[in-house]
Amino acid sequence: MSIKVNKDIIILAIESSCDDTSVAISKNKEILVNIVANQKVHKEYGGVVPELASREHQKNIVPTISLAIKMSKISKDQIDAIAFTRGPGLMGSLLVGASFAKSLSISLKKPLIEINHMEAHVLANCIDEDPVFPFICLTVSGGHTQIVRVENVNQIEVIGETIDDSAGETFDKCAKMLGLNYPGGPEIEKNSKHGNHLAFSFTHPKVDGLNFSFSGLKTNFMRLIQNKSINNPSFIQHRLSDLCASIQYTIIQILTNKLDLAIRKYNVKNIAISGGVAANQEFRKAIISLEKKYNTKALIPKKEYSTDNAAMIAISSYYKYRTSQFTKTSINVDPRYKLKQYDQ
Ligand code: AMP
Ligand code: MG
Repeated sequence: MSIKVNKDIIILAIESSCDDTSVAISKNKEILVNIVANQKVHKEYGGVVPELASREHQKNIVPTISLAIKMSKISKDQIDAIAFTRGPGLMGSLLVGASFAKSLSISLKKPLIEINHMEAHVLANCIDEDPVFPFICLTVSGGHTQIVRVENVNQIEVIGETIDDSAGETFDKCAKMLGLNYPGGPEIEKNSKHGNHLAFSFTHPKVDGLNFSFSGLKTNFMRLIQNKSINNPSFIQHRLSDLCASIQYTIIQILTNKLDLAIRKYNVKNIAISGGVAANQEFRKAIISLEKKYNTKALIPKKEYSTDNAAMIAISSYYKYRTSQFTKTSINVDPRYKLKQYDQ
């Protein structure tokens, strides 16, 4: 197996941790192609059905890889390494991507690189930028809400995370209560446009330090809808935009308050966000306010690099390739793959 050192590094990366089959091909830090095959089958269930997700990955993986190779105009023998998401994620979904990556690595005789999905969300911020280290990153996705301190690309440590539901899941569940489609985040954002964000207020969770909790907020939201609908069965219909604006505002406030606390606690001014919820325009605006408050630079990845994507797996593996962090094909996927906790 030959490892290139001073030449271009070309990586084929696969992301399959949840319900998106994504393949990217990168040349050094440049993303040549990033294809995401979405799975529509989950829509009618209002959430991801794991068994259906792995079956869809199996259907999508070959055409997605073929298309990525075709669009990148890279030939298979130019590829220097194959990267895949080892976890965290859904077991069946991870297995499809990992098995395919291992087979490619063996057949092309190229090294294999395993990537932690949460680390990749953070490093998505390095795709079009050269971040100033250390920085603090808040990752807000469908499955996770986590704050990390990034000392450098190889040292990413958790300083806070949710003790129950994620922020993305809260968007999704509240949207479901309102009869909106899955995924709920974009639906709530769309319907909040002409709403009053102060129309309804919800109690903020009291969680010490940098950890989050969203389960109480979800219950709070459900009770409000149930109580108001007793005397007014059209309550949701009449107040949809106010309900969406108010829940969106509350979730964003909880997130930005903790990020603000992290900046002060660690005296680190450089900040970043990532994950699917980072696509939310109001959330982006709140981060830009923090940027102004601390006179710093906030990194916000492009929309296509915020939700699950293989470009973030490619950039993460680029750094691993440069330091020869390869893995054996005998490695197992890890649905609960954890990042290191920050040790004060
Ligand atoms: P990910 O797990 O990173 O792919 O992100 C998916 C999650 O992001 C889901 O919970 C979506 O509801 C949420 N999401 C996507 N777009 C938005 C948006 N515009 N506003 C709020 N949440 C969003
Ligand atoms: Mg994700």
